[in-house]
Amino acid sequence: MQRFIGLLCFFLLAWPSVGVSAQDTATWETGSTRVELSRFVDYWQEPATPVGIETVTALDEADWTRNGSDSISLGYAKDIYWFRVTLNNAARQQIQTFLEIGYPVLDRIEIYIDPMTSGVEPLVLGDKQPFSDRPIDHRNFVVPLDLAAGEQTRVFLRVKTTSSMQVPLIWWDRDSFYSAEQSRTMFEGIYYGIVLVMVLYNLFVFMAVGERSFLHYVGYITAMPLFLASLHGVAFQYLWPESTWWNDQSIIVFLNLAVLFGGTFSIRFINVTRENHPRFNRWTVAVITAAGALAVCGLLLPYRLLILPTILVAFVGCTTMLILSIIRWYRRDPAARYYTLAWVSMLFGGIVLALSKFTVLPRNLLTENATQVGSALGVILLSIALADRLDREKKRAFQAQQRLLREERKARLAQEKSLQVQREANTLLEERVHARTRDLESLNEQLLELSATDALTGLKNRGYFDRTFQSAVVRAFRYQEQLSLLVLDIDHFKKFNDTYGHLVGDDCLKMVAQCVRQHVTRPQDLAARYGGEEFVVLLPDTPVDGAIRVAERIRAEIEGSAFRVSGEVLHLTVSAGVCSVSPLKADATKDIFNWADEALYEAKGLGRNRVVARKADGQRMVSAVTGA
Ligand code: GH3
Ligand code: MG
Ligand code: MG
Repeated sequence: MQRFIGLLCFFLLAWPSVGVSAQDTATWETGSTRVELSRFVDYWQEPATPVGIETVTALDEADWTRNGSDSISLGYAKDIYWFRVTLNNAARQQIQTFLEIGYPVLDRIEIYIDPMTSGVEPLVLGDKQPFSDRPIDHRNFVVPLDLAAGEQTRVFLRVKTTSSMQVPLIWWDRDSFYSAEQSRTMFEGIYYGIVLVMVLYNLFVFMAVGERSFLHYVGYITAMPLFLASLHGVAFQYLWPESTWWNDQSIIVFLNLAVLFGGTFSIRFINVTRENHPRFNRWTVAVITAAGALAVCGLLLPYRLLILPTILVAFVGCTTMLILSIIRWYRRDPAARYYTLAWVSMLFGGIVLALSKFTVLPRNLLTENATQVGSALGVILLSIALADRLDREKKRAFQAQQRLLREERKARLAQEKSLQVQREANTLLEERVHARTRDLESLNEQLLELSATDALTGLKNRGYFDRTFQSAVVRAFRYQEQLSLLVLDIDHFKKFNDTYGHLVGDDCLKMVAQCVRQHVTRPQDLAARYGGEEFVVLLPDTPVDGAIRVAERIRAEIEGSAFRVSGEVLHLTVSAGVCSVSPLKADATKDIFNWADEALYEAKGLGRNRVVARKADGQRMVSAVTGA
């Protein structure tokens, strides 16, 4: 592409200027190595009807136009041109030289050397002839020419081409030609070597990392050197020496492919996306589409129809990429820096070449091969840019991953913490529930105890007694055991109360309860306050004599006790009724209680302070009569 830009400058600045005649003939002095012939060339445009060499040699001097400039470039003309140049060997010895036409895409060149003397059979060259027809195996057209000392000869060229009409003519000493050729070949070798390595390297990188930019880049650096190789005749020489049709078309196809891949690569690489630059994106896509269409056309339509649109698309493409790269650099896209440098170095190669063609810069190895140097530098810079970008993306991905890991760890810690808090809350809740349950249980027990206890005496109350009595009767009935019940009543307690007051009465009740408790010792026995000044004692599995003994002990103890109330010594007695039975039915509680109560009344009736026992059959039994 840079070569193309060079050519473009070439057209703009070196459009044929006419008539400046310095010297008529090109002269070979002793020791000459090369003579640029452009300045000595005359040209004549062939009319619509083709003419032969005889007509041309017979032309009037005035019909010829003197080229007179450092290059021969007649633009994209569909016409056929005749060129003539007079060569004079001023050296004292015979010389062996080459005539080189350094523009390998010319279609057909007929060369007549000294047609006046050596007949009219031309040597036919051009890229429409198979490569093997060439007298010298070279990408440019090279014709051997030997001149004796002092000999002068005239060379006529008939040139027909669909490319631009450029005929750079150089007259070479053969040794100098070959020695210059060596360095040219070396430079080209280095260039194609670098490009080949880059193509393979980036292809492998693409295969390894799968980043599509590399593939577009590989497309670009494959199409670009193939275009240059076609333009320089290298591809014709080495790749398709017989394909004269394809040789022209390949220039169209590869130049357009280079624009296409250059465009797709740029869009991806410097992010000329629809989001970033909607207009530039559309514009670039349009250029890419046009290049793609032209590349396809290159396989179908003739070269001459496609070359101008191709050059236009390439020029627009190049300018667009350069402007885009500068804009992206300005927008601080880190990828755009190398990218712009690559473009500048490629353009620089083209500019240097153009300047050396116009002799603004001296011709030397570097300026002659500036295109290749610039292109190779560009290719390397772009590859570095790609690697740099890959590296940056890798770092970004790594940082993102690290961030993600950190956040995940944080989230996990938070989750663990909340789980811990939840666990602790659960434990606390369980503990509280346990404690509350325990409290409630103990409260329940206390309530139960309270509800079963007589508040004044601390003995079990009547309710509790009734329940226990009932189950004791059921049990005694079941196991056919003797069950005894004592009913105790304090004697003349009303009078006692009336005399000493209720508070003293209460104290006495407590002391009587204490006496009863002392003598009711077995675990299954139960002493309770039945109500008022009456007490009951339940003695399971106890025969009548045992029950009488207990009742008698209580009676005797109370009788023998002295109660001290405000300095006075008081005495109390109790009467007791005893009933001992082996129940004949499970619900015998009422009968048993009535019998015991009857026994108590009997004891009262007998004068109080005594124990009367009754057996189940109603037989009376009086134990003792004391204190009466
Ligand atoms: P008896 O020898 O026939 O049993 O004569 P008594 O006076 O004990 O007979 P009664 O059953 O008529 O009298 C019971 C009296 O006991 C009535 C009341 O003054 C007294 N009393 C009943 N409950 C209490 C009590 O909780 N505290 C006090 N201080 N006295 C009570
Ligand atoms: Mg009573
Ligand atoms: Mg009483």
